[in-house]
Amino acid sequence: MNPVRGSTKAGNSGGNRASNGVKKVRVRFPPSPTGYCHVGTARMALLNYLFAKKNGGDIVFRIEDTDRARSTKEFEDDIVDSISWIGLAWDEFYRQSERTSIYVEALQKLIAEDKAYVSEEESKKEPGTMVKVVRLRNPGTSITFTDIVRGNITFDTKELGDFAIARAIDDPLYHLTVVVDDASMHITHVIRGEEHISNTPRQILIQEALGYERPQYAHYPLFLGSDRSKLSKRKGDVAVREYRNKGYLPQALLNYIGTLGWTPPSGKELLTLSEMIDEFDLKDLHKSGAVFDMEKLNWYNRMYLSQMREDDFNDEALRVLEEAIAAKGISWNENTAHKLVPLIRERISVWEDLRVQVREGEYDFFFIDPPLDLPRIAEKKSTPAGATTHLLTLLEFLEPLASFSEQSVKDAIWPYAAQSGRGAVLWPFRYALTGRDTSPDPFIVASIIGKETSLRRVRAAIQLLEVL
Ligand code: GLU
Repeated sequence: MNPVRGSTKAGNSGGNRASNGVKKVRVRFPPSPTGYCHVGTARMALLNYLFAKKNGGDIVFRIEDTDRARSTKEFEDDIVDSISWIGLAWDEFYRQSERTSIYVEALQKLIAEDKAYVSEEESKKEPGTMVKVVRLRNPGTSITFTDIVRGNITFDTKELGDFAIARAIDDPLYHLTVVVDDASMHITHVIRGEEHISNTPRQILIQEALGYERPQYAHYPLFLGSDRSKLSKRKGDVAVREYRNKGYLPQALLNYIGTLGWTPPSGKELLTLSEMIDEFDLKDLHKSGAVFDMEKLNWYNRMYLSQMREDDFNDEALRVLEEAIAAKGISWNENTAHKLVPLIRERISVWEDLRVQVREGEYDFFFIDPPLDLPRIAEKKSTPAGATTHLLTLLEFLEPLASFSEQSVKDAIWPYAAQSGRGAVLWPFRYALTGRDTSPDPFIVASIIGKETSLRRVRAAIQLLEVL
């Protein structure tokens, strides 16, 4: 459904009245490409998308790149990629930098009607040079608009003075371009974060000067960081790409972004995009800001990971594991790796967890014999002689086993461990197999690394103890 990237429909996209005379809903997703796609930007896209699709309408993707100094193609691409990645699509795509002539026409009309004027002023950017700023003749009226989320809002616009709407006749400013585009694209609803509330009276003044219809407004509260201040790039990873790189699932991020600050009438927490569309109503958006909580996002991701088809999970788990193991220069064992998948499934919320666990050495011993620290073998409730006895006894139990499953290893050892002291028996066994203070229990480890490797490691520990 996404039109080819970069395609731009010029100006007016045709009438938007359906045959029954009711206006077709049209909303816009207008990011400024001045940074990577933020989770707040993704939410702006999602809320507009949900509203459009719920109401049988269209969503326009509009790159607001009039601030040429700060806008980059890299950021534009990142926003397009991130929005596509979370599974959203759009009906039309525009770039403001390609629409200058439309804005110039509007500016000329305003000037011709004396609703705006050119004022020669010293440039703020380059002091000493004169520029021809275009300013709106502000009638200074009081503006009231009805906000779908917040009710009636009134602003006295006198204090705004004759504000600038273009840096030069061919260099329009944000307020003008937004107003001209919203009108020419037949936008019916402007749904955006509450940081834009104070822009609304300015934009209404420009609309009125140009004789445009007023769209409906809905300003929703922003996501907050854990300290309840505005979520910002400075405070860590809020870019969608970061979550993508860490291996979050797009459906999990989409679901979390959608339901943070919105309670669907069903009260469900887990919703697909089409379920969100079915339930969506702007009036159910919360009136105060919601905290973006990593724990909750991880919970969503765990839910979606657990719903992943087994084959898909296996493939991805093996891919991530192999990459992480290779990065440590450890040799790969496909057979062992396959047996690790169920364990991985229990231990991660997000693929990045697996990478971190591998980096921290939690999987090395599944692939290579661990170095053992002699005094540690007999550390728990035991003596070197005691540990030697226990390990020798375990060897006797394990050697005859035909099956080396978790259960058969446990059945073979458990009565002896229960009788002789679980810590004293199982610590040296687990330590001999893993070389680590913490690891999954020794029965699981033994079943994954297999009989031959397990026995070899137990014998190696006994040999080490003999030196004492
Ligand atoms: N380009 C603006 C932004 O990225 C959005 C403007 C609007 O929604 O009117 O914040």
